[in-house]
Amino acid sequence: MRIVLVGPPGAGKGTQAAYLAQNLSIPHISTGDLFRANMSQGTDLGKQARAYIDAGQLVPDEVTIGMAKDRMSQSDAVNGFLLDGFPRNVGQAEALDVMLKDEGVKLDAVLDLEVPEDEVVKRIAGRRVCRKDSAHVFHLSYSPPKTEGVCDVCGGELYQRHDDSEETVRTRLEVYHTQTEPIIDYYRSQGLVVTISALGEVADVTARAMDALK
Ligand code: ADP
Ligand code: ADP
Ligand code: ADP
Repeated sequence: MRIVLVGPPGAGKGTQAAYLAQNLSIPHISTGDLFRANMSQGTDLGKQARAYIDAGQLVPDEVTIGMAKDRMSQSDAVNGFLLDGFPRNVGQAEALDVMLKDEGVKLDAVLDLEVPEDEVVKRIAGRRVCRKDSAHVFHLSYSPPKTEGVCDVCGGELYQRHDDSEETVRTRLEVYHTQTEPIIDYYRSQGLVVTISALGEVADVTARAMDALK
C-alpha cells in the first residue's frame, strides 16, 4: 500500500505511522525525522534545513523533494510506504504524482487526521523526543517514559524539540493552514481522502485508521 498521512503538527502522525507501518508491513517515511537525523549528524542537508525548521517554515522544495525521492527509491519502499509529513504543499504533491506515474504506481489513500487546535497545542507542549532517534516519541502526561528524561526504547536522552516552542508552533499551525491543507482538496479531487478523528487513546485511533484504510 502507498499511503500519505496528513494532519496538523502534533496530531499524532508519527505515533500512528509507527503502528500503521508495522500493521501494514510498509516502511514509515517521515521527512521531519529525516531532517532531524541530518541535523544531528551535521550533514550539508541538515545545515540547509535547520534555519527553516527552527523558524517553523517549510524547508524549500528543492531540498525536500530530492530527500523524499531518495528515501522512496530505497529497496524497502518498492512495494509501498507510509509517508508522514510529505507532501506538505501542492508543489510537493505534484512532484510525488510525477514520481509515482513514472513508476506506474498509484497512491491508495490519503489519511487525514483531524484534531482540534487546542488539543494539538497540548500534545506539542508535552512532546518529548529521543536524541538518538526522533521517531521515539513520548508525552509528559499522555505517555510518559518509565524513567523521566530517558527513552524507553533505546535509553537515549529525551528532549523538547526546538521547534516545539510556543512561538514557533503558532507559525507551524499557520503554515499548515495556508500551505498544507490545500493538498487535502488536491487529493480529494482524486477521490483519495479518508478523514478520521485522531482524538482518544492511541490504540483506538490506530483501529479507526485501519478500518478507514480497508
Ligand atoms: P510535526 O510532526 O510536528 O508535524 P515534522 O517532524 O513533520 O513536524 O516536521 C518538522 C519540520 O520539518 C517542519 O516544521 C518543517 O520545517 C520541516 N519539514 C518536514 N517535512 C517537510 C516537508 N515535506 N516540506 C518542507 N519542510 C518539511
Ligand atoms: P505529529 O507527528 O503529528 O507531530 P506526534 O506523533 O509526534 O505528532 O504526537 C504529538 C504528541 O502527542 C506526542 O507527544 C505524542 O506522544 C502525543 N500523542 C500522540 N497521539 C496521542 C493520542 N492519541 N492521545 C494523546 N497524546 C497523543
Ligand atoms: P535543541 O533545542 O537541543 O537545539 P533541535 O531540535 O534544534 O534541539 O536539534 C535537533 C538535533 O540537532 C539534536 O539532536 C541536536 O543535538 C542537534 N543540533 C542542535 N543544534 C545543532 C547545530 N547547530 N548543528 C548541528 N546539529 C545541531
